[in-house]
Amino acid sequence: MAKTSNPEFAWKDGRIVPWPEATVHVSAETVLRGANVFEGMRAYWSEAEKELYIFKNKEHLRRLRQSCKIMRMTVPYSDDEFTQAFIDLLRANKFTAGVHFRPVVYFGEGESYAWKPEDIHNGAFVIAYSRPHAPSIKNGIKSCVSTWRRNSDNASPSRVKAAANYHNSRLAQVEAKMNGFGPPIMLNDRGEVAESPGACFMMVRDGVVITPPVSADILESITRQTLIDLYREELGVTVIERDIDRTELYIADETFFCGSGAEVQPITAVDHYDVGDGKVGPLTRRIQDLYFDIAAGKVDKFRHWLTPVYGNSTARG
Ligand code: PMP
Repeated sequence: MAKTSNPEFAWKDGRIVPWPEATVHVSAETVLRGANVFEGMRAYWSEAEKELYIFKNKEHLRRLRQSCKIMRMTVPYSDDEFTQAFIDLLRANKFTAGVHFRPVVYFGEGESYAWKPEDIHNGAFVIAYSRPHAPSIKNGIKSCVSTWRRNSDNASPSRVKAAANYHNSRLAQVEAKMNGFGPPIMLNDRGEVAESPGACFMMVRDGVVITPPVSADILESITRQTLIDLYREELGVTVIERDIDRTELYIADETFFCGSGAEVQPITAVDHYDVGDGKVGPLTRRIQDLYFDIAAGKVDKFRHWLTPVYGNSTARG
């Protein structure tokens, strides 16, 4: 089924275009082999300031460059050009509520497995949708451990935000859904906790926040690092990056996913084991509240994480 409400405009290869014109040919490498890398970003609306704020723009552009570097793709635009593209697109669509948007660097038509610009078209596009918080943000989801293993670094590195990695995500997500669960927890090749199909994982045990290290076959999540910093520096909570065993999930006090799209998503049960008392825990709720306040421009100290879209405010990102 088609999505019912597409936005009016997309951005493709340097300009704003009407949504139906943002197309690539079926013979493009991005279609045939999923040869693209991307970012999933959010912009948050401040009703008080009538302003839309892009969250951690610089960090996302840096990761986009890192994904391109590993995949031997040239980034066709500068960071300033991409930032202007985001602003132009969000303005063109007149968003006045939360937005999720996706800049994509793709290989178009050319030689298979080519990487040199003279051998293959290298382009970029950006699409953006209104995306309110998921209702489950409030009361949590029930998760499970997937039977599918996360992509490993020597096969299809999870560190690269490549569309093709999401075939692995899709297998896990669909299986969990068919079994009546929300997004699952995926283990890596070594049997340790990695991440969910589209977010990173954190748990609380005895007042300490624990999350898998970046070497656990995870995406180097911007939200993960943001929450680590906020826990340590703003809430005075210890955070440890270490491997997590499967059975630790069953005795954790709190568990949650984090990501630009997932935001801070509480998990209240794993494999039918209640997490803690089966309700959203206090350290999950505190970080969620702080994260949302910062994203909406309510905390002066962190306004430098925000890039204003309409220019009604003074934040700089
Ligand atoms: N892991 C995967 C597989 C993801 O798709 C995402 C979402 N981009 C994340 C983790 C979270 O990353 P971030 O916080 O940078 O959005």
